[in-house]
Amino acid sequence: MKVVLATHNSHKVAEFQQIAAATRPDLEIVAYDGPEPVEDGVTFAQNALIKARAAAEHTGLPALADDSGICVDVLGGSPGVFSAYWAGQKKDATANLELLLDQLRDIADPHRAAQFHSTIALVTAEGAERTVQGIWPGRLAHRPAGAGGFGYDPIFIPDGQDPAAERTVGEFTDAEKQAQSHRARAFQALIPLLAEL
Ligand code: IMP
Repeated sequence: MKVVLATHNSHKVAEFQQIAAATRPDLEIVAYDGPEPVEDGVTFAQNALIKARAAAEHTGLPALADDSGICVDVLGGSPGVFSAYWAGQKKDATANLELLLDQLRDIADPHRAAQFHSTIALVTAEGAERTVQGIWPGRLAHRPAGAGGFGYDPIFIPDGQDPAAERTVGEFTDAEKQAQSHRARAFQALIPLLAEL
């Protein structure tokens, strides 16, 4: 089955292809290169649906779109849908994570809880619409570590690690990230919906 992935983020395309290869090898995920809609939603689900609708309409294929971000407890869930441009509209990933670290500079580990969120929307050319969600709990590091992944990966320490050897997602291998990420969790929830297509 062929689906179009409504994102211009090459990291997300690669991650989806790796996640799908491990769980749904029959699924051919192609990148979307059509017009990008304005993401003026205020929730992950609204923005994911906006992107998936545009891609389904433009290509005639079933379309997937992920809208994702990092939500920090002590900031009331921010940056959330503003994750991509937390430090300004130029969408500078290093400036974004440096601003977040600065905002939490004096906050101790027990209060640094955060979660990566991913909402995936599935929209067909016939107009069927579904959304699923994946959450990856953890906390913010005090300084960046590792060069893997993208975005906030160098400052996110997922829960469930050996306390003596905790790493950020920036220090994970691609396979480690794709086995447990918010995007992988949302994709697991999507599989039964894909089967209905
Ligand atoms: P979107 O492309 O509009 O969904 O924005 C997502 C933003 O959230 C990205 O620019 C990153 O800043 C952040 N983000 C989402 N997923 C991840 C991830 O897996 N690792 C690190 N940052 C992420």
